[in-house]
Amino acid sequence: YGSHCMPPARSRYAQRMTPAPLDAEVVGRSRIRGTSADLPVPATRSVLPEPSGRPGPSGPVLSAETAPEPPALADDDVPQQLVDRYGRTVRDLRLSITDRCNLRCTYCMPAQGLQWLPTPDLLTTAELARLGRIAVERLGVERIRLTGGEPLLRRDLEEIIGSLSALRTSTGVKPDIALTTNGLGLEKRATGLRAAGLDRVNISIDSLDPQDYAAITRRDRLADVLTGIAGAQEAGLDPIKVNAVAVPTTVEERAPRLLAECLRRGWQLRFIEHMPLGPRETWSSQDVVGVDQILGVLREAGFNLTEVGRPDRRPAALWRVAAGSASGQDHPAGTVGVIASVTAPFCSDCDRTRITADGRLMTCLFSSTETDLRGPMRAGADDDELIRIWSRATWGKPRAHGSDSPQTEGDGFARPQRTMSAIGG
Ligand code: SAM
Ligand code: SF4
Repeated sequence: YGSHCMPPARSRYAQRMTPAPLDAEVVGRSRIRGTSADLPVPATRSVLPEPSGRPGPSGPVLSAETAPEPPALADDDVPQQLVDRYGRTVRDLRLSITDRCNLRCTYCMPAQGLQWLPTPDLLTTAELARLGRIAVERLGVERIRLTGGEPLLRRDLEEIIGSLSALRTSTGVKPDIALTTNGLGLEKRATGLRAAGLDRVNISIDSLDPQDYAAITRRDRLADVLTGIAGAQEAGLDPIKVNAVAVPTTVEERAPRLLAECLRRGWQLRFIEHMPLGPRETWSSQDVVGVDQILGVLREAGFNLTEVGRPDRRPAALWRVAAGSASGQDHPAGTVGVIASVTAPFCSDCDRTRITADGRLMTCLFSSTETDLRGPMRAGADDDELIRIWSRATWGKPRAHGSDSPQTEGDGFARPQRTMSAIGG
């Protein structure tokens, strides 16, 4: 189908590509440990021993070698959605647009930075626009998040967002466009980004104490980030969501203060469990601050939390925070989220796919394999060919973090070749 005005007829291929419901091990409901109610999260095999050292539940591992081949395609058949062999359908595209960054967050990058990709290796504005168009108009993607590295380092960010926001899904809806950023320089660009069609921003701040912030990011830039957030708010980029990685040495001190401050400023804070995607020596499974511990620290500090669950199956599980006083400060009501990628992974209903800044498809943050889209694009592949490559790679998406790779490092996680900033967080 060529038009995005009409919903596409479901092709024979799309019908065949939709497998039976998730295999028996994946179907079910689970609890996030330490919480009081069932969350609307189908259970997935936990592939990581519990941070406390308790063994995680084990299950057979489906290796890539034993994975079924995708159904054969007739010559004229082109997939109309991205489906994997466990029945998950891709709706969310994370587009990394650069691997460079102007901060050096300890959990993400080494102090000296990384060897950046040469500029000719980066996807161009037109290539990003083309992949976005294929994803939204041809493959059913509804949400695009631009990330990096630091996406504000790309001068053509407004142009990229402008081309993505002009797209329409097969049902005529504009894709939701979000940006994950450290906020540096946002004040100058927020109005233009908003005008180009940006819907939302997530800004990473681990502490609102300037010295603490500088220790984490290795740069004394908190004041500039706060100016950036003010600019975003003035431009109408609301709500402001704040991402903070929970780190064991400081969680008790930092988490309650950060939450109280975010509530007072009207920002929605989400803690992210520390994943093994930064410099190798910075992560050990014993050091992961899990969702239970984060909630425990917050309750201990006086926050009254009521579980909400995972609205729309987004990665963050949410808790309502009642107005009150905690950590020595009064605060209004609000919410707090936890992205429990390590202790309660949400792989079984993952609808995400990722493209790195140099055009490699990663079907999972922890993929040990990458699929090149840039090479075929530059060699003249047409849209149908790119769709076939993309769809085939998606069929082989791992069931859960590290579950399709024997190369785990004793903790259940197979590290991808790249670190977080080079994949796109
Ligand atoms: N530079 C932008 C920023 O910091 O928001 C976008 C890229 S950054 C890689 C995206 C997100 O990944 C940030 O919220 C950051 O805190 C998070 N992140 C980086 N390394 C991480 C790790 N090892 N574990 C968990 N989250 C991590
Ligand atoms: Fe840069 Fe974001 Fe990584 Fe921090 S988390 S070093 S801001 S890419």
